[in-house]
Amino acid sequence: MNKTQWLTAALLLALIGGPARAAYTIEHVTVIDGTGAAAKTDMTVVVEGDRIAKVTPTRVAGTPVGQVIDGRGKYLIPGLMDVHIHLAGWRWDAKHDGPPVIDHAAAEAALAGYLYDGFTTVVDVGNLPENSLYERARERAGQIQSPRIFATGNLITYPGSHGDAMAVRISDFEKDKALLDRHIAEQQPDILKLTYDEEGWGARPMITLMPQPLLHQIIQYYNEHGIRTTVHVSNERRSEEAIYAGADTLAHPVIQGPVSDNFVRLMAAKKIPFATTLTIGENYSRLVEHPEFLDQSDYVATMSAAERQDLKTTVRASYQARSWTWWMKLMTPICEENIRKIVAAGGVAALGTDQSSGPAAHREMELLVQAGLTPAQVIRIATHNGAVFLGKADDMGSVEEGKLADLVLLNADPLADIDNTKAIALLMKGGTIVDESKLPLAGGAIKKRYAGS
Ligand SMILES: [Zn+2]
Repeated sequence: MNKTQWLTAALLLALIGGPARAAYTIEHVTVIDGTGAAAKTDMTVVVEGDRIAKVTPTRVAGTPVGQVIDGRGKYLIPGLMDVHIHLAGWRWDAKHDGPPVIDHAAAEAALAGYLYDGFTTVVDVGNLPENSLYERARERAGQIQSPRIFATGNLITYPGSHGDAMAVRISDFEKDKALLDRHIAEQQPDILKLTYDEEGWGARPMITLMPQPLLHQIIQYYNEHGIRTTVHVSNERRSEEAIYAGADTLAHPVIQGPVSDNFVRLMAAKKIPFATTLTIGENYSRLVEHPEFLDQSDYVATMSAAERQDLKTTVRASYQARSWTWWMKLMTPICEENIRKIVAAGGVAALGTDQSSGPAAHREMELLVQAGLTPAQVIRIATHNGAVFLGKADDMGSVEEGKLADLVLLNADPLADIDNTKAIALLMKGGTIVDESKLPLAGGAIKKRYAGS
């Protein structure tokens, strides 16, 4: 091409605006934006490419862009987020003496289950890197149907402390710095998970605790590499110490007993986000006392019949026999009240399950309502606050202009009943409508939910 032809080509490209991007206009919809703002009726939401381009009352929305989606009688919320998972996809070998067995199909079925249940983001806070980081790479390359995956890879702890089996063990900051450098370089953690718990609670014996100065040094080191941290804690004292060691988030609420008023005020003043993780403890007695929950449609869709049967028989019997089950049943209402008080005071809770299951994440929302929170508060906890937890609230987690178009369109009002967050008409991740018929669900293939193209 000569100079004139080049200029003509450049001008044409500028006029066209580059490669065509998919666009959708959702009209006449009720928007619950995730920030805690009141629901807005008869709204229009325009999605262009992977972003939300416009959120405006329909009466002033102008000409629709791209494909029109009728939102009449429907409710639009941000994609749900679970900020504390341990992705399925590995198990110890039968004799427990060889290396763990990796099962990518199991991981990808669990991830598909999260999409089925309206979750567009999960945060894995401790796993085998060959499981969680493998799937993170596959998700980012667009090779699997999955929520966005943020992951720590290996967690970090003190030798002999909580979570030691899946951790990089650090006993001395200067001596072990090379291990930290390697973790950062090789695993590129999106967030670092540390544990700070000497146990000695419930049915657990006392173990070693990471010294607080070491916790502080490691947190500072990761922060100086631009990486946020989340710290496993279980009681008030260690939670407070973790906060003063610089923790960006806590991976659990206080479960060991009722929190003090001072701690409630501290959490409200610092606004340190914490993952709610009620369902991991409640799940044991629920299975013993109400195994029929496994017949709910989302469990049937996301688990195999054999797995549900095993839970109802073998696993249920083992839970029945464990004192841990009954200790957790006793403590769950206390933990719920701790969460309620901190949220009421202005603290920041983010939905986390400590599991690997979309249905469990919906159970977490039910338990938060049972704790005394309103569905509106719970939706904020399950969306915007998850983004706050990750330090990504500028980019995602709410139905606002400029944010990633991770959206759930619901057939029923989630403010009337939190379980209506399961009444999904359409799920969008990054501006693309999820085709449920392509999800590798453990319960078998299902139809695409949205009838349009
Ligand atoms: Zn955990």
